[in-house]
Amino acid sequence: MSETDRSLSTTPRLYVTDALAEGSVITLDQPQSHYLGSVMRRQVGDIVRLFNGRDGEWACAVASVARKAVTLTARQQSAPQENVPDLWLCAAPLKKGRIDWLVEKACELGVARLQLVTTQRTVVDKPKLDRLTAHMVEAAEQCGRTALPELPEPVTLDRLLRDWPQERALIFADETGGEAMTAAMARAAAPAAILIGPEGGFTPAERDAIRALAAAVPISLGPRILRADTAAIAAVAVWQAINGPA
Ligand code: SAH
Repeated sequence: MSETDRSLSTTPRLYVTDALAEGSVITLDQPQSHYLGSVMRRQVGDIVRLFNGRDGEWACAVASVARKAVTLTARQQSAPQENVPDLWLCAAPLKKGRIDWLVEKACELGVARLQLVTTQRTVVDKPKLDRLTAHMVEAAEQCGRTALPELPEPVTLDRLLRDWPQERALIFADETGGEAMTAAMARAAAPAAILIGPEGGFTPAERDAIRALAAAVPISLGPRILRADTAAIAAVAVWQAINGPA
């Protein structure tokens, strides 16, 4: 198949960490080389789309194919770097499976940063950030995204509140009640953050500490208690519908 036979929308898309500019030469790592060469059977001259989270998406031509290392040359930018609304999702770590789902969906919906926050009732061990990053990369590759959320090391709730940047609205999903979310979110445009508790919820002392912050906007997600992963994704989707670009 020639380059022109294959529309850009069906060409493989891969995330790389190298810089992308006209003429850049990129060497894929071993798993990606295997995927492109052996699974997708791409050959020299074929076009692949690469993105790195910074330089937009680039149409790149396969320059050489070896079992362990496929190289490509960047031809032209095929999509500009997207603008992600300045929304953070601050959520307590959840057990494996649920947290994997949460990071994948947060990446698809578009958050600028996913900050894991440990609270008094957080019961899971330190999440494996490598695994979570891999889920975000896979979601971004599939969904045509050019940006990945930042994923810093987890922080404690105390630390998060102590260092809170006051200009950023802290939309606090309080399962014990708060303002209706649509009205509250309309007042909490970017820069903003959504805070979701662990499966066990926040302690009363934690809720008081969060509410004491001037930037806090306590909201209810409705009369039904949601699991933490559902609450996080519902809140991000509503915020994006109200404040994100169409
Ligand atoms: N175990 C708690 C529920 C925790 S739900 C209880 O029984 O009350 C986990 C997190 O999801 C909560 O800390 C909150 O941040 C969010 N959440 C779930 N349902 C919510 C709702 N109806 N309104 C606001 N936040 C909600």
